[in-house]
Amino acid sequence: MADLPTLLRNLNTTMRADDNWGTPANYIPELAGINPAQFAITVITADGAVYSAGDCDTRFSVQSITKVFTLAIALGRSGDQLWSRVGREPSGSAFNSIVQLEREQGRPRNPFINAGAIVTTDEVLAGRAPRDALAEIVQFIRTAAGSEDIHINEAVAASETQHGHRNFALAHFLASFDSLKNPPDMTLGTYFHHCALEMTTTQLAQSGRFLMGAANMPKLISTARVRRLNALMLTCGHYDGSGDFAYRVGIPGKSGVGGGILAIVPGKASIAVWSPGLNRYGNSHKGTEALATLARQMNWSIF
Ligand code: GLN
Repeated sequence: MADLPTLLRNLNTTMRADDNWGTPANYIPELAGINPAQFAITVITADGAVYSAGDCDTRFSVQSITKVFTLAIALGRSGDQLWSRVGREPSGSAFNSIVQLEREQGRPRNPFINAGAIVTTDEVLAGRAPRDALAEIVQFIRTAAGSEDIHINEAVAASETQHGHRNFALAHFLASFDSLKNPPDMTLGTYFHHCALEMTTTQLAQSGRFLMGAANMPKLISTARVRRLNALMLTCGHYDGSGDFAYRVGIPGKSGVGGGILAIVPGKASIAVWSPGLNRYGNSHKGTEALATLARQMNWSIF
């Protein structure tokens, strides 16, 4: 096997040598001010070894990456019933697009676009107080990561609530189709708060170990569900950049507008990358580049 510590060190140097960092998300003011010139990567292999380079101790807003965990929880609570409320097809539209929702009568295309993630959060909420649903989400992620030191950044949640006109529009539009079980603002409050969880790449890669489906990794859900989550990450995890990511990187991944990506090499590795500047699809620019290089060098592909 190629020497991972050396590859990661070189990757960190290469990424920093080029000053096209992309642009941090600007619709959440708390994220807009972040210095884009940051990069971190952590790889955890199936034997449990942890390799990191760059700013791997810096916490960042994991945002949409939490949608993988809320989906795992929603499927655990309601099983396949969730699929009557959300589809499993790539959307071919932006993460926050509303146009398809009208044409398809309030059933979002997949659980990773915002509309679908709001419905998934609504399923996790299921008549409980938001505080209780959030406690379950945070605990699931802490257990997956093997770390209690993972928290919600209240300032980020508040910032998104104040400026989340798109998501309010999506939630109320969903409610107009009777697609939500809870009051839209309550579902949305829960959604904004789980998106505002912060992790380092080390913690994020740890939290993705259960998706590797490898023998000595934490087993939080069934093998069948691990495969299905990975399938959705491959087809829908990067919004309308999912095809390009599958083509260039060749492994399942889930991005967030905080600039993080969680990528899984089934049976082999859990990888977290972070760089806050985004590409035109709203996915981390350098994160995507780094994963493409690493997957090529390690000969990691599901194909
Ligand atoms: N909280 C963000 C939003 O709803 C998550 C989007 C993302 O990370 N792509 O807009």
